[in-house]
Amino acid sequence: MNFCSHCGAKVQLRIPPGDQLPRYVCDACGTVHYHNPRLVLGCIPDHGGQILLCRRAIEPRRGYWTVPAGFMENGETLQQAAARECYEEALARVEIGSLASIVHVLHAEQVHVFFRANLPRAEFGAGVESLEVALFSPEDIPWADIAFRSNEFALRCYFKDKAAGREMLHFETLDRKPARPKAE
Ligand SMILES: [Zn+2]
Repeated sequence: MNFCSHCGAKVQLRIPPGDQLPRYVCDACGTVHYHNPRLVLGCIPDHGGQILLCRRAIEPRRGYWTVPAGFMENGETLQQAAARECYEEALARVEIGSLASIVHVLHAEQVHVFFRANLPRAEFGAGVESLEVALFSPEDIPWADIAFRSNEFALRCYFKDKAAGREMLHFETLDRKPARPKAE
């Protein structure tokens, strides 16, 4: 951040009085600009044992596969955000189920939250942020081409739980970027 989004003056990075961390401070209008982690909401749409995945049409990780997920908006619940993202990216209407995984992605300053979801009908298509959308059997999941480690974690936990006949909540913390080649 270089300029104050409130008054347009130049901001300085320093620890305000009574605070513990450096913040972008505007001396012109007195505004302290706090940057906090953003919530990414997703779901694991299950249609009779097959999982709906989207191939990304946008960066980062264009061309790689993800579960439907995206940034939460103001004024919606976690479940609404997960269902909305699924409709936007995969044109699929899901019934959001139990909370499956919470992944702290420290290097991206994000928290990724994944719900289990039922996809009652095999009706879906590519939203504007997807190149293609498809159902995958567990043995056909393209593990090498999954876009994000949070997704891989959520999917692996999902299958493990399903095999064990349980629905647990799993936590993970990621703190650096994976060393993987970029997509075409
Ligand atoms: Zn200002």
